[in-house]
Amino acid sequence: MSAAKTAITPTRQQDFPEWYQQVIKAADLAENSETRGCMVIKPWGYGIWELIQQQLDRRFKATGHQNAYFPLLIPLSYLEKEAEHAEGFATECAVVTHHRLEAVKDEETGKTKMIPTGELAEPYVIRPTSETIIGAAFARWVQSYRDLPLLINQWANVMRWEMRPRLFLRTAEFLWQEGHTAHETKDEAIAETRMIHRLYEEFLRDHLAIPIVPGEKTENERFPGADMTLTVEAMVQDCKAIQAGTSHYLGQNFSKAQNISFAGRDGAQSFAETTSWGVSTRLIGTLIMAHSDDDGLVLPPRVATQQVIIIPVTPKEDTKEAVLAACHALADTLCGTKSYHGDPIRAHVDSRDLQGGQKKWEWVKKGAPIRIEIGPRDIESRKVCLQRRDQQPTEKAFMDKEEFIQSVPDILQQIHDNLLSRALEFRNANIFACNDMGEFDKHWEKENPGWLATPWSGTAAEEDVLSKQHKITIRCLPIEDAGLPEELLAAVGQDCILTGKARNSVALWGRSY
Ligand code: AMP
Repeated sequence: MSAAKTAITPTRQQDFPEWYQQVIKAADLAENSETRGCMVIKPWGYGIWELIQQQLDRRFKATGHQNAYFPLLIPLSYLEKEAEHAEGFATECAVVTHHRLEAVKDEETGKTKMIPTGELAEPYVIRPTSETIIGAAFARWVQSYRDLPLLINQWANVMRWEMRPRLFLRTAEFLWQEGHTAHETKDEAIAETRMIHRLYEEFLRDHLAIPIVPGEKTENERFPGADMTLTVEAMVQDCKAIQAGTSHYLGQNFSKAQNISFAGRDGAQSFAETTSWGVSTRLIGTLIMAHSDDDGLVLPPRVATQQVIIIPVTPKEDTKEAVLAACHALADTLCGTKSYHGDPIRAHVDSRDLQGGQKKWEWVKKGAPIRIEIGPRDIESRKVCLQRRDQQPTEKAFMDKEEFIQSVPDILQQIHDNLLSRALEFRNANIFACNDMGEFDKHWEKENPGWLATPWSGTAAEEDVLSKQHKITIRCLPIEDAGLPEELLAAVGQDCILTGKARNSVALWGRSY
């Protein structure tokens, strides 16, 4: 039997990484640029980011944070203050060393070349993250315990000279938000770190339909300069892991390095306890890999720029005007209706002068959650023809127009729930308990090995040996109520898989992007 024809070649099964590139291309989300490792985000991709931004921003503000903006260029001396942080980012830094260009004419070719001149006395680093420059501002702003907590977020671009870039998932320049907070006590700072960790978990679940495993990073994978890094780990359809967001408790490491100190309630001078946390455009790559299929992108409704695409079917000139009018009237009604998530429904009429089939396939590949076709006969019968992107390939369903209008919020919610439960089922089916070193070593020879949950009390060095041997990492040590299946947790033994000593925690191992 020949395989069914798919809109994307290769399929997920044939070549997952290449399928991913092709989904991005077919959905017109982004493209590589001439600048190494940097992408151009196109409108359909940027629209997803704008929605992520708006929705996260509301949550940050609802939890007491305020937005601010800090310089792109960080004086090198700032970075030098926190040694571990500086070392951690050293190999990924783009450095600005000159501030002028001089035109020099090449005598032979007659062409003008621009040569950098005006060497700076102190180079600047293009921010790979802003702890150091925001910390310098915090040191000025914080004088007394009354100035705390200080809860700041920045929406910005950052630059990390990544050696193996991949669109959205790992780019040299990326867009993100970085939260930076300062607190009076350790307990408050840890509570903030955990609160944001939960916020990320809920955001991924409720907005992106991605079930993540919340956990703590081991020392090897911790953010440079942090005392604790909490992560949200997503599993995508080739069973690899993606670190979708992180929340760091920084202790007094940065406040001591930068002198963020305050007069406490007892009048004594103390260093603040700080946190930082971020999610990036990697979220877009994560949702593509989590939900899309062999016909292209599948968008979770809340982050779809258009949730309902209305395609007019206009076989004859004399009915065309009436069909278009009916389509626009439907779009207006929908746009004035609130969806399940409280925002207005986003509906769009595709009235371009193209064949219906071509339009349909474009929207399939772009992942629009609902497609509607309306033709002359549907106007008479007051029906619409409905197709859901999460049910590709679909039978067309005819629905009474009024009933459809009432049901759109529900259908969008069902699509979200369907994507979430599908992803959750897939994830749970691909995490396995393992208590035996022999089985552990053999497991990683499999093609899509998924994740292993093992009892663990090994050291950083021991973890490192296993990581290098199998090209895996401990994705996280899941937190207590991480939402992993009971049977899985019950099957993980009490003694460390490597050392045989009583376990400190359960470790989740896997390959990652
Ligand atoms: P970090 O400050 O290193 O904890 O980064 C915060 C978050 O940004 C990470 O959890 C990743 O999800 C994301 N991130 C890190 N590096 C990149 C990159 N090169 N491209 C896109 N996203 C990234």
